[in-house]
Amino acid sequence: MNLIMFGPPGGGKGTYSSRISERYGIPHVATGDIFRREVSEGSDLGKKIKGYLDRGELVPDEVVNEVVERRLSEEDCRDGFILDGYPRTLPQAEALDEMAKIDLVIVLEVSEEVIINRLSNRRICRRCGEIYNLRSMPPKREGVCDKCGGELYQREDDRPEVIRNRLEEYRERTQPLIEFYRRRNIVREIVVREEKPVDEVMRMIYSALESSLPAEV
Ligand code: ADP
Repeated sequence: MNLIMFGPPGGGKGTYSSRISERYGIPHVATGDIFRREVSEGSDLGKKIKGYLDRGELVPDEVVNEVVERRLSEEDCRDGFILDGYPRTLPQAEALDEMAKIDLVIVLEVSEEVIINRLSNRRICRRCGEIYNLRSMPPKREGVCDKCGGELYQREDDRPEVIRNRLEEYRERTQPLIEFYRRRNIVREIVVREEKPVDEVMRMIYSALESSLPAEV
C-alpha cells in the first residue's frame, strides 16, 4: 500500500505518518527528515539545501525528486510506504507517477489556530526524531526523549517569520495538488478543527484507510 500524507506545516503529518508506519509495517519516508539529517551531517547535499530549509522555502524539484526516487527504490519500500512532505509541487507529483502507483492520499485539514499552537510548542528528539508538544504531548522529563533519552530541540524553521513562509508555500504550491489526486478519487480528508488527542485523530485515519483499501492490505 502506497500512501501520501498531505497537510499544512504543523498539521501532524510526521506524527500520524510514523504511527501508520508502525501499524502497517511500511517505511515512513519524510523528505523534511531526510533533508534535516543531510544538513546536520554537513554532506554535499546538506550544504546545497541548507539555505532553503532555513528560509522555509522549497528545495528545487530536481533535487527532491532524485532523493525520493533513490529512497523508494530501496528494498524496504517494495511492499509499500507512506510519503510525508512529498510531493509538494506539480512537477514532483508528475515525477512520483513515474516511480510508483499511489493507492491513497490522506489530506489533513487543520485550522490555523491549531497550526500555530503546534509549531511554536513543538520539540523534536535529536537522536530518534520523536515529536513532542510542550502543551499537548509533553515529554515525561523536560528536554529529554521518553523513547531513547536523547536531547529535545526546537527546529530552526519553527520561528514565527519562517512559519509564515512555510504556510504560504503550502497554500500556493502544495494545496492545488490535492485536486490532482482528487480527480483519481483516491483522496480521503481528515478534518481537525480543534486540538484533539493523537489517538482520536488516528482512529479517524485508520477508519478512512481501512474502508478504502482492499481487504488483504
Ligand atoms: P513542514 O511540513 O512541517 O514545513 P517538513 O519537515 O516536511 O516540514 O519540511 C521542512 C523543509 O524541508 C521545507 O520547508 C522545505 O524547505 C524542505 N522540503 C521538504 N520536503 C520538500 C519537498 N517535497 N519539496 C521541496 N522542499 C521540501
